[in-house]
Formats: sequence, C-alpha cells, structure tokens
Amino acid sequence: MIATSHLRVRWREDTDAIVPVGPGPTVPPPMEDAEPRSRHFSSTRNACKLCTPLGACLVFRGVEGCVPFLHGSQGCSTYIRRYLISHFREPMDIASSNFHEESAIFGGSGNFQKGVLNVLRQYQPQLIGAATTCLAETIGEDMPRLLHDLREKHGDSITAPIVTVSTASYRGTQIDGFHAAVKALVEQLGQPGEKTGAVNLFPGMVSAADLRLLKEILPDFGLNYTLLPDYSETMDGETWSEYEKLQSGGTALAAIAATGSAEASIEFGRTLANTETAGASLQKKFNVPRHLLGLPIGIRESDAFFALLSVLSGRETPVKYSRERGRLVDSLIDGHKYIFEKRAIVYGEEDLVVGLASFLCEIGVTPVLCASGGRSKHFEKALRDAAPALPAETLVKEVFDFAEMSELAPSLKPDFLIGSSKGYQIARSLRVPLIRVGFPIHDRIGGQRVLHLGYRGAQELYDRVVNALMDAKQETSTVGYAYL
Ligand code: SF4
Repeated sequence: MIATSHLRVRWREDTDAIVPVGPGPTVPPPMEDAEPRSRHFSSTRNACKLCTPLGACLVFRGVEGCVPFLHGSQGCSTYIRRYLISHFREPMDIASSNFHEESAIFGGSGNFQKGVLNVLRQYQPQLIGAATTCLAETIGEDMPRLLHDLREKHGDSITAPIVTVSTASYRGTQIDGFHAAVKALVEQLGQPGEKTGAVNLFPGMVSAADLRLLKEILPDFGLNYTLLPDYSETMDGETWSEYEKLQSGGTALAAIAATGSAEASIEFGRTLANTETAGASLQKKFNVPRHLLGLPIGIRESDAFFALLSVLSGRETPVKYSRERGRLVDSLIDGHKYIFEKRAIVYGEEDLVVGLASFLCEIGVTPVLCASGGRSKHFEKALRDAAPALPAETLVKEVFDFAEMSELAPSLKPDFLIGSSKGYQIARSLRVPLIRVGFPIHDRIGGQRVLHLGYRGAQELYDRVVNALMDAKQETSTVGYAYL
C-alpha cells in the first residue's frame, strides 16, 4: 500500500491503475498526485507471504553446526526469530551485523567483520550462513566482496566456511529465500566426484514431521540420500540436560559437498520449473539429473513421488506404503458424504497451495479461491496441471494479501479455509473452520508436527478436514446430534 497523508491506494495489475482502497480520508488527492506508476510495483496491506531471509535462516538451521547470520538491522533477526520460535517452539539464534545509521550510509563491512568474528568465537560453528536483508540490499552491499575483505584482514581467524545468499525481501517471499539458500549451499560447498549412487532430495519449506517422513521413505526404497535442509531435529528436538548453543542434527557438510556427485536430484515445487534452483544448478554444473515434482500432497502427487523412487531405486513401492494408500482411499469413501461439494479458500506459499488444491479436488471439495503472496507467474499453470479437476471459475490470485481476501471471502461462501494461522481473522468473521497447515501456525501447538506429505500426510489432512466440518455442523445445529 502507498500511504499518503490523504488516501490509501494500491496498484491494480489487472486494470493497470492505482485505485483507492479506503477507509477513505477526507479529501482524496487527484490520482495523478499519487506515486509514479510502475509495472513492477505491487502493494499490499497484509501480505500473504513472509520475509525472504526467514526462509534462508530456516535452511541454515537445517545444516549441522550452522549459525544463520543476517547482514542488516537487528530488528530483522528479531522478527524472524519471533516467527520461527512461535511456530517451532524451539530456541532459534540468528546473529546480526546490527546496522545503525552509519552502516546504512557508508556500508556495513566493519559490522560484518566484527559480527562474524564474534560468532566464530562464541559458537565455534561448522558453518555460517549469511543472508542479506532489505536494507543491506538497498544500499548495494556486495557479499562476495565483504567476504573477500574479511578473509584478507582476518584470514587466520576464519575457522569455518561462510556461505552467502542475497535475500532482499522486496524481491520475493520466504520461499524464494529458502530455495536461494539451498542453491547457495550446493553451489558454494558442492564438489564434483565419482558418482556415489545417492539421491539429493530438496523438499522445500515443509514441516519437521514431513522431513521425518521423507527420511523414513527413502531408506525403505534402499536409497542413500542427502536431504537438504533437514531441520527435523534442530527445530523439533528433544529436551536437553544441558543447554545446547547449537541444537544437534541437520544436514552434514560432507553430505552437502557430495551433492555434486549424486546420482540424481529430486526437487519439490511445480512453480520452480523455470527457476535456477539447487537441482538446476547441480544439473548444469555437475551433470546430476534433476527431477522436478509437485509437493507430494494427496494421492496423485504422492503417486508421482513413489513412482519416481521406484524408478531410481529399481524397487517396487514397499507394501507398507501401498497399504497406507489403500486405507486412504477407503477413508475417502467413508467420509465422502460429509464433504462432497464443500467449498474452500486455500492460501499460502504457491507450491503448498498447488498441492492442497490437488488434494482438495481429489476428495470432492471445490477450491473457490487459491491465493498466494508469491509472484512466480507460474502459479495458475502449476495449479491446473496438478489439479485438472479444478473448476475454470476458481479464482487464482498471485501477489494477493489478506485484506483483499477478507473483502472477497464473504461472496465466495466458503465452508472452510485452509492455510496458515494468519487467516484466522477471516475464518472467524465468516464463522467457518480454519484448517491450519504450512507456516506459520502461531495459535496452536504442534505446527512443526503437522504432516502434509505422502499418503500418511493426506490421511491426516483428510481426517482433520472432515472432522472440522462435522464439528462445525454439530456446533451450529439446534438439535445437538451426537451421531452424524
Ligand atoms: S526489513 Fe526486509 S529483511 Fe528486514 S524483517 Fe522487514 S522484510 Fe524482512
């Protein structure tokens, strides 16, 4: 949103115009007085996305012994820490170069050097993952040069590798930062070598429970693998007898180095087809074939994942997973009468929405609005490829925000919303259930343990959706049926 002293306005890409969004003030200025128009300008009032370096910080905490380091203001690391801690309910240290007025004007090289040396001294990390913030990007901080200067001045004290990634938040979402950090890790640490027969798996920003499931599935196919990142323990670990500065777990640096000699890479995310990701980079640099799949949410997308694992391993899908699939199909029949033709608003990061919409279409629910704050420009195509049953009239919105969603939602008459806890106010105003999935989940315990992937994840999602609708029916009934 552009906040002028008189009027709140926003750019409408569909109408190519700046329009007022109210609540209106006293005397609106003429439209030509508004800020200069740009085709690339996009405004928002309550973004359906999160800060880009947040995704990078989560990736770095999924690497063994790594300290995330933000080059920029301290407030950025505080905000990101607050979001991650509230979802994962785990401690999360993020170092900061702590920009102040002087650094904002003359550059933050000195702060960067001091900050890195402090982190090396206090944490003795195996790796520092340094991501930029909006301010550092705006003043044009050149991370490779900062690193070069650091090594030149303090080479003997640099006891751990430092990976850098550019993550200006005005250019993307938490998912862009996430994928950029994974790519930076394999590009800056990956090495060529004899083929190891292992598979790289780049799952995207899924839950800790999803990561644990993937770590169960790949060995069941007899596959050696590198899962990057792996925050299943670092961000959802056990209690400690003594405080650990850096939680144990995470992808080992040696495993990241070996990504260049893997047999193949699997990457989740249909919207990434034209993006320079870790998988694409390894294919180009080290000739490691890249297999791009949708997030395996629901039956169709999970089938594609299990089929690929069968091909890569030369083994049939283990019977335990075909039984999970069979039970899932059986439960869809059992619950069909409760959810058939229900209407849902689906929102969140693009590839999660793609997977959820595909799943909802499979179970007989109509997604009436699929919305994301992302801007890949491949969202609608990915949606319609993954969910061929998606009705033509389903609204698909990129660069969307929660304010727009709240304006649109009543007319769509949804039976439920599915997405992060940031949609709670809309669900509350409509008096419909909110199925909490993805990130962040700030108003419930166990967000990190929500399972989305595979037949098992689809089963859990299905039971939650059906039970939420049954619960809503019971609650709004004047009779109080105990048998539905
Ligand atoms: S200033 Fe940019 S990097 Fe910092 S918290 Fe805000 S959006 Fe994130």
